[in-house]
Amino acid sequence: MVLKIALNAPLRRLFDYLPPHDCPPDRLRPGIRILVPFGSRRRVGILVETATASELPANRLRRALSIIDDDPVLDEDLLELLCWASRYYQHPIGEVLTAALPTALRKGRPSAEPAAGIRLTALGSGIDSDAISSRSPAQSRMLKFLREREGGCEATDLAALGGSWRDTLKRLRNKNWIEDFEWEGAPRQAPAIAIPGPQLTAAQHEAVRSITGSLGQFSPYLLFGVTGSGKTEVYLEAARAAAARGGQTLVLVPEIGLTPQLVDRFRQRLGLPMALLHSGLPDSQRLAAWRDTRSGAAAVILGTRSAIFAPLSNLALIVVDEEHDASFKQQDGFRYSARDLAVLRGRRSNAPVVLGSATPSLESIYNVREGRYTQLELPHRPGSAVAPPIRTVDLKHHAATNGLSTPLVFAMKQHLDRGNQVLLYLNRRGYAPALFCGGCGWIAACRRCDAHMTLHREASQLRCHHCGATAAVAATCPECAADLHPVGEGTQRIEETLARLFPDEPVVRIDRDSVQRRGALEERLEAVHSGAARILVGTQMLTKGHDFPNVTLVGIVNADQGLFGTDLRASERLAQTILQVAGRAGRADKPGEVLLQSQYPDHPLLQRLLTTGYRGFAEAALSEREAAAWPPFTYLALLRAEASAMEAPLNFLRAARAKAEHFALPVTLLGPAPAPMQRRAGRFRAQLLVQADTRGPLQSLLRPWVEQLAELPAAKKVRWAVDVDPGELF
Ligand code: ADP
Ligand code: ZN
Ligand code: ZN
Repeated sequence: MVLKIALNAPLRRLFDYLPPHDCPPDRLRPGIRILVPFGSRRRVGILVETATASELPANRLRRALSIIDDDPVLDEDLLELLCWASRYYQHPIGEVLTAALPTALRKGRPSAEPAAGIRLTALGSGIDSDAISSRSPAQSRMLKFLREREGGCEATDLAALGGSWRDTLKRLRNKNWIEDFEWEGAPRQAPAIAIPGPQLTAAQHEAVRSITGSLGQFSPYLLFGVTGSGKTEVYLEAARAAAARGGQTLVLVPEIGLTPQLVDRFRQRLGLPMALLHSGLPDSQRLAAWRDTRSGAAAVILGTRSAIFAPLSNLALIVVDEEHDASFKQQDGFRYSARDLAVLRGRRSNAPVVLGSATPSLESIYNVREGRYTQLELPHRPGSAVAPPIRTVDLKHHAATNGLSTPLVFAMKQHLDRGNQVLLYLNRRGYAPALFCGGCGWIAACRRCDAHMTLHREASQLRCHHCGATAAVAATCPECAADLHPVGEGTQRIEETLARLFPDEPVVRIDRDSVQRRGALEERLEAVHSGAARILVGTQMLTKGHDFPNVTLVGIVNADQGLFGTDLRASERLAQTILQVAGRAGRADKPGEVLLQSQYPDHPLLQRLLTTGYRGFAEAALSEREAAAWPPFTYLALLRAEASAMEAPLNFLRAARAKAEHFALPVTLLGPAPAPMQRRAGRFRAQLLVQADTRGPLQSLLRPWVEQLAELPAAKKVRWAVDVDPGELF
């Protein structure tokens, strides 16, 4: 017998080994980890399949060292899904399988879950939990929780306490107040009491009814609901119904770190054991969450993109919240789309899949139109809350001073005077996007990229937002010694302007720079929620799922970059951003208002969006895509190459194109051409686009082509990668 083993290596193949000595064949189940010799080292591999023969001569076959797992870490369904994804996205199988495992398992640590329970010791039983509640509230709560469960509970049940319960657990263990014991199959206790939610509206009820009615079968839904229409309530009820039948719900969200509120809401409202899976977790917690998912201990699994590969033992429902979000597509390495894989996984597991958004991707809207997805609509906000009207401010008539026009400043005053909060959105961090010489026109540029440096005044630094390079801020122009001026606005500059205009109002700025420190985001959000700060300025970070009930005015400082973007999805992203930001206003019973500053208020795209809403915009955008033969009407794959020598990527892509033409398949090859930003981080970049009317010929080309590419002599001089269904064309 020969073992076909995947190793974490950038090679598009499996490696053959002989089974370890004295290994009973029934232990060799696909999906287990096996320790193998590789070169002079040992590596952790994953058994994909067994075969009766190898292409290698017998004397070159090495023997695997030992089996790590009794039970597969990747069950049959998941293994098949991953193998499919490896073929579809043209990514090496070893790296794909590895991506599905927590780091601890990649390193070979044991996966078996100790069947341990937690209970109070005699010492712990004697502690007065009320007496310590002011000093250590978390410990007090955990003691109380355990006191109510005399037979003990499982560690995962403690997750219901929220916060950093694992740390608290450790502290109590160290004090000998609690102990681990061998669990003897006592019945599981309900972890917490669920807080009841609002009475569902008719539309919410209808959506929940459809979804829960299809539990047990594959059924893809687009939940199209304006911001604040109560989509999350629908997810919660559907997850509750799935759990009542003993099934697990997987909820994918764009970024958990940015939405602590959402995690708490799920926890409090469902009272079900949950697992969180995202890249911000320490290894051990991630492994614990992975185990809870696999054992079925967690009923709800909330995670980011990579959680699509979570080992759900009993998957009943998949939710992809904010399904239009670009973060669901990985942009480097294994370039998969978690949203698309969610639909595939739902199909394979006979589970309904709910894609939710106020601004769905054009792909999903098209899938509804074609009858592939069922649309569920939440057209209104519950109660008296209404979606805010959007007004434009023509910057050609109302000049902006340091970013803010008079009408916007005037509106801010009005809203603040009424005791409400104001949010300003600008998708540029830093102080100013360029530092410019008024004398000779010199602009501070990155030495390694075709890009300007952004001025960060707080740090007195120039920073390149593309490669991270930094430089000192020169006092005068290096060419002509004239004075330098910051041009344009970033969030820091708006913050400065606001401090001048509203000296008595503290301003909270939220962008990648301001929330770097751990806990900084929470502090800032808290200042907004408590009302301590009433002016909020920030980037994209603010648009993702936050609920600011007292914000009644949203100002979009500048969205013009998106109007003339060269990328295929530039206008779609712009429309989504405008509506998502606008959706932060008027969420409670306070009516909201949105002001959009623009140099081009009459731009047809903007007009379409403002007069007909997202639906009308989407129809127009889809017609444009159809006329241009872009997705979702066609299918794309992008071959990217980069090198430090300028000509190398183009040479490689020309050779690649010649190879592709050889297959004589019904695909269109576009390029090669330099990337829109040709030089980044000191490397020159170019790309070749492959376009096809259906997926069939595209896939038929990619498989053999990619193998040939690796053999091309020109390939040795470049770094190259294939991106199937690319999110961006640069
Ligand atoms: P979305 O996920 O669509 O942005 P949410 O589910 O977060 O919307 O709901 C927005 C707000 O409306 C929340 O404060 C939520 O508690 C409230 N809400 C949702 N559904 C209802 C309802 N049926 N009745 C009253 N309030 C509701
Ligand atoms: Zn100059
Ligand atoms: Zn740079």
